[in-house]
Amino acid sequence: MTDLLVRGALAVAGGGEPEPLDVAIADGRIAALGPELAGPARAELDARGLHLLPGVVDPHVHLDDPGRAHWEGFPTGTAALVAGGATTTVDMPLNSIPPTVDGPGFDAKLAAAAGRAHCDFGLWGGCVPGNADELAGLAARGVVGFKAFMSATGVDEFRACGEDDLHAGMAAAAELGLPVAVHAEDDELTGRLAAQAAAAGRVSMRDYLASRPVEAEMRAVERALALAEATGCALHVVHVSSGRAAGLVAEARARGLDVTCEVCPHHLLLTDEDAERIGLLAKCAPPLRTAAECERLWARLVAGEIAWVASDHSPAAPELRTGDALHAWGGIAGAQSTLELMLTHAHHERGMALGRLAWLLGGAAARRLRLAGKGTLEVGADADLALVDLGAERTLEPRELWYRHKVSPYTGRALRARCTG
Ligand code: ZN
Repeated sequence: MTDLLVRGALAVAGGGEPEPLDVAIADGRIAALGPELAGPARAELDARGLHLLPGVVDPHVHLDDPGRAHWEGFPTGTAALVAGGATTTVDMPLNSIPPTVDGPGFDAKLAAAAGRAHCDFGLWGGCVPGNADELAGLAARGVVGFKAFMSATGVDEFRACGEDDLHAGMAAAAELGLPVAVHAEDDELTGRLAAQAAAAGRVSMRDYLASRPVEAEMRAVERALALAEATGCALHVVHVSSGRAAGLVAEARARGLDVTCEVCPHHLLLTDEDAERIGLLAKCAPPLRTAAECERLWARLVAGEIAWVASDHSPAAPELRTGDALHAWGGIAGAQSTLELMLTHAHHERGMALGRLAWLLGGAAARRLRLAGKGTLEVGADADLALVDLGAERTLEPRELWYRHKVSPYTGRALRARCTG
């Protein structure tokens, strides 16, 4: 018996143009997909006039739970994801206390999530100085891979890796057959520039942006690629912010390395001028860059050189978002808006096909991180669906947000899409 029949939506299935299809769901899976399926079903949903995409897979989210659930949390963060069309997320190993850097840390996070998440989730393990021996235990528990920082994280319990630490972690990850994801900014350069700025009293947003130049990203990406090559580790560079960094990754892949990178909507859509206008809600690392750099990233994305789009949803308690821009806490709250932003700007404005967009927002990460049944509309896949109204013209309002703190640099922005279910 079919549990639910979704009728008549323009479905983005396979690689072709959207076509009107019915979807039959039984036991949480897609049981049938085709035009005008026969019933009966326990329930029917008339979705004519809407588009149906695979539920978004957001592989880069900080839910901060347990330990800093006053920043975000499984209930609110996953509610926001679902409201934005995401049905699966992968939580980052830091900003929770304990961090997910060993077996007990993993168990604590799973306990915090139990019965409180509104969508499916996976966990990244952490690769930190001295924990290479813990990675096997994390792998046995089911992490999708390991996240390492090459620059300061801002939290004491999750430290950045130096070269030797990263080498040890990558060697262990290679043995386990899991990827390492790196935040790639050169700590020496960013640390020195930030210290010089602080000493001179240069603490504005413009000074913050200048303290984290593209050069810092380039140096770190080059080092990470060299270590991946030396260890045979699969590498993923999170949130690339420059066309040149994405280009380094593409070149390395062309010569045979197993390396990918991701881009975040904020690096495609928000500029240095937006950072000055919006203020601390638009502070992030790597920072927002020039409009020309955004265009270079779009070109790399369109060329297929960037594997996927992820939010890097990274909220914080409001009291940390005060003071000068050089020292205040950063992080973009954006997970609820990824699909609507990309439908507006990639599809409507730039003509990206919906099938391609669905791949960038789900299928690609699901494949690389081995999330079976995710990111695709096909018989046998999980019944993870996103229904969207592509004709909606609207402005994003704070009251629509499901985050723990209803703020985002995207509020007030014009959107041409609405997730409806
Ligand atoms: Zn992040």
